[in-house]
Amino acid sequence: MMAKSCWECNTNKGNRIGGNCPDCNNQGVSVKRLTVEHLVTENCRNAVVGDQYKICMNEDCDVVYFDVDSGTRFLRDQVKVPIWFKKDANPKYACYCSKVTEEQVIEAVVKHGAKTIQEVNALTGAMKNSNCKENNPLGICCHKIVQEAIDKGLRSGTLPSTE
Ligand SMILES: [Zn+2]
Repeated sequence: MMAKSCWECNTNKGNRIGGNCPDCNNQGVSVKRLTVEHLVTENCRNAVVGDQYKICMNEDCDVVYFDVDSGTRFLRDQVKVPIWFKKDANPKYACYCSKVTEEQVIEAVVKHGAKTIQEVNALTGAMKNSNCKENNPLGICCHKIVQEAIDKGLRSGTLPSTE
């Protein structure tokens, strides 16, 4: 185990590397404690201790958040929203702030010919009430996920379930 001071000087410059999931050993991505506090279920909120939170990006792993220092972890059923990149997430949100799903974004692209974030936002209402730090499980702007969904729609040209 690395000394705490070394850990901090390695990570405090926005470096997202380091800290592996205690369950699957996949690399975690740093998230703010504020995000974790906002998204865990009410009865887990008091269990949020420590300030070195990561999110496990492995789609098969049940662990969502874990704290590198204290070893605290929160599983999928202890988090209020489905995590879009985890297996069987339902619904799969592209924008957590406005509760717009990946499917709605793809539909805007395929059925209504939207090609840009702006067009998709106008059609779906995505990113209207941006409060990503609290609402997005990674504490990042939904922009990137919406863009990925647009790309998916543009590539496939059809909706997954229709036609
Ligand atoms: Zn994991």
